[in-house]
Amino acid sequence: MIMKFRFLGGADIVGRMGMTIEGDGKTMLVEYGMSPTKPPEYPIAAPKIDHLFLTHCHLDHCGMVPAVCGRDDCEVFTTPLSAEISEIMLYDSLKIAKAEGYMEPYTASDVEKTMELVVPFGFKDTVELGKTDVTLHSAGHIPGAAMFEFKYDHNTLYTGDLHTADQKLVLGAKPIKCKNLIIEGTYGGRNHPSRDETVDDFIAKIDEVIDRGGTVIIPCFAVGRTQEIMIILKDLGYEMWVDGMGRSVTGLFLNYPEYLRDPRSMRAARKNFREVKTSSMRKPASKGQIIVTTGGMLDGGPVLGYLRSLKDDPKSAILLVGYQAEDTNGRLLLETGSIVLDGEMVKIECEVQKYDFSAHAGHDEIVEFARKCEPENIVIMHSETRELFLPDLQDYNIILPELGKEFELDV
Ligand SMILES: [Zn+2]
Ligand SMILES: [Zn+2]
Repeated sequence: MIMKFRFLGGADIVGRMGMTIEGDGKTMLVEYGMSPTKPPEYPIAAPKIDHLFLTHCHLDHCGMVPAVCGRDDCEVFTTPLSAEISEIMLYDSLKIAKAEGYMEPYTASDVEKTMELVVPFGFKDTVELGKTDVTLHSAGHIPGAAMFEFKYDHNTLYTGDLHTADQKLVLGAKPIKCKNLIIEGTYGGRNHPSRDETVDDFIAKIDEVIDRGGTVIIPCFAVGRTQEIMIILKDLGYEMWVDGMGRSVTGLFLNYPEYLRDPRSMRAARKNFREVKTSSMRKPASKGQIIVTTGGMLDGGPVLGYLRSLKDDPKSAILLVGYQAEDTNGRLLLETGSIVLDGEMVKIECEVQKYDFSAHAGHDEIVEFARKCEPENIVIMHSETRELFLPDLQDYNIILPELGKEFELDV
């Protein structure tokens, strides 16, 4: 059966994902996200949708789902963990839009309605939607993150964000045999350094900063990175604090232990960190030895308060462990040593270092995964450097989709 595919966003960029599949009398939507830039950016408007598939709860994948569900009453297939965290992210994103004076692309009641429309779905579960069978598999990206396998006459695998190497939180994704592979390519042309070496360097730097009497600030995204770092640091024996939305996400992860590689290590990590539960606890935390806190790109969240207290202390250090997008404070700090704080450019005297703890597969890992799926057609998305895969994937029919332009696959 020939079906029509169209990217509404996120074909040749990392952000605001959305892809429709049209055929057999219905239209399905895989992910519908937004880019939390200033101002936020959105995908192309979605046509009327019958079924929606959400891979995971990062805003670039889930951030616009309520705009569709509020309008179309379509079921949302996702893991219960992704649904619960998405709910937090969506309300938070509404709050930010309100605070910063941006248009709100959906209402709080659209979020409520979305949650009512969720059909919770575990890994290896299959749902029959007419003649299409859809099965979920772990994407190895963050807990609860799924790949979707659509089976009509043939298999089509949509990976969403993907990691194939094992992390502390989740094991790497396993290839699925398919005719059509729709795969993310964030790291086209780049490979990650060895994770073990990165962890060793990271811990050596933490020891060094604490030995010289400084405090280590680790700005982290709330979902995934905060918990991965907490597990890595759990046995160091330092006075460690965790602040921001990552705290409640850790609680949610522990409510769904089946999505964690090792729930015991997550529980132990939570026990060894002190939680900043009220704003008055930020003062003692800023005198502690390690602070793991949102926001990961220094654009908001409690991290700014810690930077205010520690910015003039050259003994302290800011260890960046996540992607720093353009036009963010994190990128500015790496490039100029300053950030914008309360509307002013402020010099940061702390040491700044960056470590690669990415939850996405590197170039060679993507190529290996793709080959093991033994596809005929490979569609590369979620990438600004997709062309760099072409030399390594010459044996396949490669499709580099363009925003809004239809292409066809035999599914
Ligand atoms: Zn993601
Ligand atoms: Zn993504």
